[in-house]
Amino acid sequence: MSSFKSIPGTFDILPDGQTSGGDSIAPSRVWQHVETVIRQVMALYGAEEIRTPILEPTELISRGIGQLTDIVSKEMFAFERGGTNYVLRPEVTAPVMRAYQQHHLDQRGGVQRLFYIGPCFRAERPQKGRYRQFHQFGLEIIGATDARADAETIACAVDVYRALGLNDFKIRLNSLGDAESRPRYKEALIAYIKPFSDQLSEVSRNRLESNPMRILDTKNEKERLLLKNAPLLVDFIDEESRLHHDEVKAHLSAIGLSYVDDPFLVRGLDYYSRTAFEIESESIGAQGSLAGGGRYDLLSVELGSKKVIPAVGFAAGMERLLMALEAAELVNIPFGRLDAFFVALGDEAMKWTFPVAHALRAAGIKVGYDLSGRSMKAQMREANRQQARQVIIVGDDELASGIAQVKDMDQSTQRSVPFDQLTNQLTDKE
Ligand code: AMP
Repeated sequence: MSSFKSIPGTFDILPDGQTSGGDSIAPSRVWQHVETVIRQVMALYGAEEIRTPILEPTELISRGIGQLTDIVSKEMFAFERGGTNYVLRPEVTAPVMRAYQQHHLDQRGGVQRLFYIGPCFRAERPQKGRYRQFHQFGLEIIGATDARADAETIACAVDVYRALGLNDFKIRLNSLGDAESRPRYKEALIAYIKPFSDQLSEVSRNRLESNPMRILDTKNEKERLLLKNAPLLVDFIDEESRLHHDEVKAHLSAIGLSYVDDPFLVRGLDYYSRTAFEIESESIGAQGSLAGGGRYDLLSVELGSKKVIPAVGFAAGMERLLMALEAAELVNIPFGRLDAFFVALGDEAMKWTFPVAHALRAAGIKVGYDLSGRSMKAQMREANRQQARQVIIVGDDELASGIAQVKDMDQSTQRSVPFDQLTNQLTDKE
């Protein structure tokens, strides 16, 4: 066996699932099931899939997400090769906007609803629900300023959760105003916090200079108390943003989605303006954020577009969703059983099995057989491990008579089936 192990903060997705760093990682069939449901919900929204590269130009991410954010300043897996700077994408919104601009997707006409599912990379300290390679799915609605688009992204994320049976989550909502309102607010916030900056944690004190709004994100109770009377962003946002915010809330109410107005909600990425939201679950521990998102009208300009391309989207963690599903005991996807397993005894029978198994597979029957010439007992054990519904036993006698012994593993009955009837009889069974 190899002495190599997967890197901490990354994990293998295995057929039977596993435990990694104390977290349980769902079996691959559960991932597939969740991905299928995501695709079904996205189809209901008329969203089309986009797949962008894992490698992106580093500058796309640093410009798009913002130099002073944690992601760009501390968490990028970035390297240089032959004069080009590469980064393993830490998120997918900036890459989607890059692709939209590069391929002039606006020329397809109308508003583009693009969804994705795929891995992202951040050099964070690995802990429960926080990995270095994790997976996000998300929706980006590009080309619309309408507040319905904001409400629709939230509704879409919620529909994915509900389609999987998850109802235990909370939506937090805020407006970050436009590009002009934030500097005014930052000033007021710094002026409020400065007098007691010596009481802040080192992380927050550093943020006071670099990214003061992130201090509002603190989970530290003492700091939360200090911030109790801090000025609120809502009091600084422009009139249009305020109206937009009211519209988003009205649309959410119109579809019966309840939310909590949270004036302290800021997001870790710089590109948001106006709507910002987060969907949280209480069942998955300290890393309770299932999904986040918002409006990012200015990202396009940041990436070099001459005109503003209005856009709004959400990004959701697959691992967090799987954790929430597990906590709610909603992840019981049955093992993919084989329809039939060949127990072949002797060289001739083994040789005979190969084309017959191949023909059954061509007829749509899930078939397995032993590849290591083991005893009948060992082959039966393998049939059981793969939960085969039927076992087809073939030895020298069966080859001579042209009749196989077929054992129904669920009913514990056995019958004789002529070779030329195998396909018919096995397809009838399913
Ligand atoms: P963000 O792109 O930071 O807004 O994150 C969106 C969602 O991705 C979060 O709500 C989490 O569900 C998930 N997520 C972000 N970072 C990680 C990580 N390091 N490990 C696992 N999930 C993550």
